[in-house]
Amino acid sequence: VITAEDTIRNQLIAAGLSKQKVAKYAVQKLFIPYYAEVELLPLTDKAGTRGIIIFENNGNKAAEFELRKTKAAKSGISKPVICDFCYTLRPMKKVAMITFYADRSKLRSTTFYICADIACSLHVRGHTDVLDYAKSQLREDVTVDDRIKRLHEKTNAIFHVIRAVSL
Ligand SMILES: [Zn+2]
Repeated sequence: VITAEDTIRNQLIAAGLSKQKVAKYAVQKLFIPYYAEVELLPLTDKAGTRGIIIFENNGNKAAEFELRKTKAAKSGISKPVICDFCYTLRPMKKVAMITFYADRSKLRSTTFYICADIACSLHVRGHTDVLDYAKSQLREDVTVDDRIKRLHEKTNAIFHVIRAVSL
């Protein structure tokens, strides 16, 4: 279970991340009421382009990431994209490319589509209004419990391809 931000910072430092690095990143206010319900908790820099995700997954794990905006198609018509984590259909501009590293040297990496706010845990639970858009576009009838289960399965699988530290 993820608790307070100060606890997370201390855990990250205890796991070997530098104090300077940890000090650069913060939890966005959106997540604060929901610590007990998140599979993915991002701590990001001010620009939102780099950070650390805390994965709640049989104990907490942490992985550094970089986030890039998706590019709109040249035609100007951008198709919706499905987030690789919460499987929610989002407009292209609400989706980003997230890169994680497979090793300490950062030579090998894996990139996924992800909701640009990284609030997948809140989206699957209906704490945001994104499912309204998805349901209007896709005839998907999946329960909240099943959405949560899919997100758990995704976060379980990701540690085969990315490097994370246990907290
Ligand atoms: Zn998502």
